[in-house]
Amino acid sequence: MLKIGHEVVRPGKNVGDSPVTIPVPEELETVPGIPKIQREVDWYAREYPVETMNITERASRDWANAIRDQHVEMREIRKEHDKLNRSLIMGARLTGDLEPTAEPTGEDVSELIKAKARELGYVEVGFTAYDTHYTYQSKKDWVKFPHVICLAYEQDFEPTQTIPSVDAEIVHSSTYRTEGAAGLELGNYVRSLGYRAQVHSPNDNTGPYIPMFVAAGLGQLGACGYLLTPHVGSRCRIMMITTDANITYDQPVDYGIHAFCQVCQVCVNRCPGRALMRDKIWWRGIEKNKLYFKRCRPVMARYLGCGICMKVCPIQKYGLQNVMEHYAETGQVLGKGTHDLEGYSLEGKGYFGPGEMPVFDAGFFSMPQGDTEEWAFQQFKDKANANGGNITDEMLEEFRAEVARGLTQSRDNMGMMEEEDYI
Ligand code: SF4
Ligand code: SF4
Repeated sequence: MLKIGHEVVRPGKNVGDSPVTIPVPEELETVPGIPKIQREVDWYAREYPVETMNITERASRDWANAIRDQHVEMREIRKEHDKLNRSLIMGARLTGDLEPTAEPTGEDVSELIKAKARELGYVEVGFTAYDTHYTYQSKKDWVKFPHVICLAYEQDFEPTQTIPSVDAEIVHSSTYRTEGAAGLELGNYVRSLGYRAQVHSPNDNTGPYIPMFVAAGLGQLGACGYLLTPHVGSRCRIMMITTDANITYDQPVDYGIHAFCQVCQVCVNRCPGRALMRDKIWWRGIEKNKLYFKRCRPVMARYLGCGICMKVCPIQKYGLQNVMEHYAETGQVLGKGTHDLEGYSLEGKGYFGPGEMPVFDAGFFSMPQGDTEEWAFQQFKDKANANGGNITDEMLEEFRAEVARGLTQSRDNMGMMEEEDYI
């Protein structure tokens, strides 16, 4: 039995459940939240502000969407989701200007908001300051209020275990819609307490949210790049509401995850794209396992959004309390090496059990780079070079049309997104 360094007590998973106690072995203790050098966070945010990959990597996004649309069933599901989701996104965009519907009492309303959020189905809720270091350049004037209500909605267990699959993609989108609707309702509730509430649709992010969830103590960053929450790990979809309500901030927590991921490594070993880094690096002032985007997107594009790193995570499958208790008792990672946890199938490639990995041909990872205009210019240069340096009217016309398409997209897009961004 390993020596327990500290215990974390969290509310039960569902309303009415008893609180859970998570033992954190001494050897897994690091810091609450994530190791951070604030002056580097400040410097990167100032000199290299974050921007959504829906803009900076638009060319590969369009490429990936075209590949996904070749899957007839998924194309129909995606179209249906976009249609249903659009009104939720547009509704959320208006909420920042809505007036409160009552006079505030002056009391701290933290517990009222938390209780309402849980009643609406959120598995995790917490408060912190809105961190402007993580606002996309294209949305820097959006956020109106200083506090954040961080919210996580559980994605159903069964379909998630079939990742990558059509069923998992359906539950992925429907979870976003369910929590998007619940967020609008929670915003109404905050206004009924006498405060303002700006709902940030989970599909229309103002920035990468995870750092604020970590600051609010709702989990820690996993090696997979997702937030790992205590009850459902990465199997949740996150969103937030900014507000001026009278609330008390929560504090970051050391759940032992930062160190546990270095022992576990299941997602790193199982990622078909070899897109996850074994070792942590310092990135924008944060110590983390950095995801290698260029090796992830080609897999996501061709295999139903992939998500194998979510499926094979023991914390997603068994919950953090069970995983930590097992580790404390045995020094082993619960489920590691089993087909149940590590196995997955890729359409057209077959089943891969523990230790087995798919192989892709050399061109598999080639994809467009940068935004639409950058990629158009790159292709223009390549064609001109291939033509002995001669630029034809046809090449110029193609380039002009592609740049015009990119500029129209940027105006229409307004940063709308389909997936949580990589950070
Ligand atoms: S989504 Fe798939 S390819 Fe991307 S990091 Fe996760 S397991 Fe790897
Ligand atoms: S699979 Fe293991 S290494 Fe990967 S995020 Fe989950 S706990 Fe961390």
